[in-house]
Amino acid sequence: MPDPRPVDLANCPDLEAALEAVNRDLAATLPEAGPMRLMCTPSDDEDIPDQFHAALPDGRWHDGVTHPAAPGIAEAAQETVQAVLWQVWPVCPEHRTGVHADTGADERAVWWCRIGEGHELCEVGELAQTLPGKQRRALRRKERRGKG
Ligand SMILES: [Zn+2]
Repeated sequence: MPDPRPVDLANCPDLEAALEAVNRDLAATLPEAGPMRLMCTPSDDEDIPDQFHAALPDGRWHDGVTHPAAPGIAEAAQETVQAVLWQVWPVCPEHRTGVHADTGADERAVWWCRIGEGHELCEVGELAQTLPGKQRRALRRKERRGKG
């Protein structure tokens, strides 16, 4: 098995956007886990697809996905957070349970809560919107400080 290598995001704008969305959610709710980098273990067998992993800033990652679309990247990030940091992420604020990366309408990547009939928490990248007002305002203040 070859070693994983960083994905050349300059040539993959879709993957770059998907990774940025996940990193936005991490910055909002689990800043110690981000920003993540996207790694790829190329397959040397044409019957086996390449594996994509989301790596923590310190390089650790766990598991991966073979379908590097936006929901897949969110899923890979979740795998790493769960297996390496032992954290359930992200969490539905209403049901206080972990949500799952899924494909919503228009092929958008969404965080989906499976409680009851299930409901869409938000689009991946919009997790900050689901925070209570107080936390959201604190986050905006932090962002302004970071830029200034
Ligand atoms: Zn819920």
